[in-house]
Amino acid sequence: MTPITSFAGMSVAVFGLGGSGLATAQALVAGGAKVLAWDDNPDSVAKAVAAGIPTQDLRNLDFSGVVALVLSPGVPLTHPEPHWTVGLAKAADVEIIGDIELFCRERRAIAPNAPFIAITGTNGKSTTTALIAHLFRAAGWDVQLGGNIGTAILSLDPPADDRIHIVECSSFQIDLAPTIDPSVGVLLNLTEDHLDRHDTMERYAAIKARLVTGAASAVIGIDDDWCAAIASDLDKLGKPVERISVRRPVANGFYADRGHIFEAEGAFAREMADLNGIGSLRGDHNAQNAAAAIAAALTIGLPEQAVLEGLKSFPGLAHRMEEVARIGKVLFVNDSKATNADAAEKALASFDRIYWIAGGKAKTGGVTSLVSYFPKIAKAYLIGAAADEFAVTLAGRVETVMAGTMDAAVAAAARDAAADGAREPVVLLSPACASYDQYRNFEIRGDHFRGLVQALVGAEPVVEVK
Ligand code: ADP
Repeated sequence: MTPITSFAGMSVAVFGLGGSGLATAQALVAGGAKVLAWDDNPDSVAKAVAAGIPTQDLRNLDFSGVVALVLSPGVPLTHPEPHWTVGLAKAADVEIIGDIELFCRERRAIAPNAPFIAITGTNGKSTTTALIAHLFRAAGWDVQLGGNIGTAILSLDPPADDRIHIVECSSFQIDLAPTIDPSVGVLLNLTEDHLDRHDTMERYAAIKARLVTGAASAVIGIDDDWCAAIASDLDKLGKPVERISVRRPVANGFYADRGHIFEAEGAFAREMADLNGIGSLRGDHNAQNAAAAIAAALTIGLPEQAVLEGLKSFPGLAHRMEEVARIGKVLFVNDSKATNADAAEKALASFDRIYWIAGGKAKTGGVTSLVSYFPKIAKAYLIGAAADEFAVTLAGRVETVMAGTMDAAVAAAARDAAADGAREPVVLLSPACASYDQYRNFEIRGDHFRGLVQALVGAEPVVEVK
């Protein structure tokens, strides 16, 4: 835990007592603050009481007596409308912050030079965060990995000069961190997302930009116009920026060409890494993640050799193009995290001969945007509520099986792929849909797929293909 000492002796209101909220309240209590914690959900309040956190219904609180309201990132600050606590705090002119802000203040107070990499972007945050952490861990560093990816930041060990914090930040968390100041800030990309919470793309981009603007050094993917503009703004401020592209060479930074990563400095460029053959980093999107991770690690001072070694052993994250097994020539890939067509596109782009399991609860537009990938799909196996809609889009272009369930889809796809003469047929679960019609979440859906494949592995001899 990182006790927060900067509020010692002061009263602090905490709202939102899920995992990170509880950790925040505990860190404040440990640092000597007088915490008044609350949640709209009585079960969460009960959990806080059981954990020894002082609770109080904040509706009855005189906000003029507290120095800050600490919100959980899930609680709306502005959109669709401010939570009631926000109105009360604003009326009393009380600052509203989150756990990442508390961490940053503590770091400035106790270990301002402690290495701290913060990562954000619309897509690829978790992969990049996990990869950076892996690079440093493989080199034997004391790595504290957390934030949006899982462990609450204040549950991590305190910042120290010989310990690195690698923290994934959502836009909601950055919105609550006005003075975020990592040693290296990574902004991967920006596309429309979460506009229900941020209102406009301008506002969403401005929030994300804060993470790199406050950083000592920035790493920015410049393949979209929003991020390219943010990088130029930092140039104007005289801030060091490493640019990342998977579309074209850059002058200063790292760019990727078919899995080869080049480091560029002015007129000079040299190949420094080759991702081909690293199964967990397939595809241009992962080249963007890997190039950003390389830039961040080198900026902190990890030796190039350690970076190259670490890349090779990155296991990847579950449910994101996760290689589950090979049976004979057939590769089985779990991409259950692909809950929309944009994400599924990344997987379809990464393989050549695909037995595609798709469907679930469809998003607007279905899979019409994926038409250009249909020639790579040997057969599609449709499951869940979206099956009929997807079948209409695929009709006449891709042979389709109305599988209905994951069990039926995996059995049929495995059988068909085994009979394929291609070099590496791939059975790919990349649903382009949410999971809620058949599963509680995408993790459970992916676990189900993995379990079914592993049962097949038990039944068949496994042969590694070179
Ligand atoms: P996040 O944490 O931002 O949601 P993840 O690393 O969990 O991102 O990846 C989620 C999905 O987003 C992946 O399965 C892939 O489809 C897609 N993705 C990953 N990295 C990128 C990227 N750099 N650009 C675009 N899409 C990506």
